[in-house]
Amino acid sequence: MTKRICLPLWWMLGSSVLVAETIYAMPEHSPWPGGIAIVDVGGTDRPPPRASFQDKPLLMMSRDERWHAVVGIPLDTKSDALSIRVGNNDIAINIVPHAYREQRLTVKNKSYVTPDQTQLDRIARERKIIDGALGRFRETAAAGIELSAPVDGPRSSSFGLRRFFNEQPRSPHKGMDIAASEGTPIIAPRNGVISATGDFFFNGNTVIIDHGQGFVTLYCHLSDIAVEEGQAVNTGDVIGAVGATGRVTGPHLHFGTYLNGTAVDPAILLPRP
Ligand SMILES: [Zn+2]
Repeated sequence: MTKRICLPLWWMLGSSVLVAETIYAMPEHSPWPGGIAIVDVGGTDRPPPRASFQDKPLLMMSRDERWHAVVGIPLDTKSDALSIRVGNNDIAINIVPHAYREQRLTVKNKSYVTPDQTQLDRIARERKIIDGALGRFRETAAAGIELSAPVDGPRSSSFGLRRFFNEQPRSPHKGMDIAASEGTPIIAPRNGVISATGDFFFNGNTVIIDHGQGFVTLYCHLSDIAVEEGQAVNTGDVIGAVGATGRVTGPHLHFGTYLNGTAVDPAILLPRP
């Protein structure tokens, strides 16, 4: 038997208006590499269909009484179309081009640029933990993808930057850097469960939150971690503090957002500053 919770209509109306106006933005269809496609897949008078992209299940949310599959588009997408599987059908998504800038950095501690074998072994071990948490799909009820800001401060528009450390090419920047002073509290931008914490070689003190249905957020370079793996968090709970641990040039929060195991631009999910 299904349990139902009855709430007065004014309560629901009141809270949804409050959420839309004061905390969340409404993420829009952003069909470019590193963006998010939001695809209408049918009415909510039926149960949500199963949807997948490259065999990875997709998050399903309802909006205006329609189900929408939410697709993280890989940053390295080269083609102008990709297709998702919905039930027994394929749906094509047109991809529009998006230019990302280049950045050249000088890092003084050379071991961060050319790690030795012991460090490479450590990096490989940590990569497994981090990728495992970022790619996790936990079944939950359909939910939205709106986020509140994890910390206030100037945001760099550096998602997708092609980076060179001491002239050596590295993987593109897969998050947003938010400038804030050391010790500034970081809050959970949405309900979830802590899926990993650790002190990692590149990322420093790190927290990963699993928001359900493959929606995951990542916090790096923390001075302090205030949560433990397995702990449930609500929007607004403190999860740690801004710091300068790992491969950094100064204190800031590296904030990453992931859908179907793919890094997407956090700016799409956050309210406008
Ligand atoms: Zn960063």
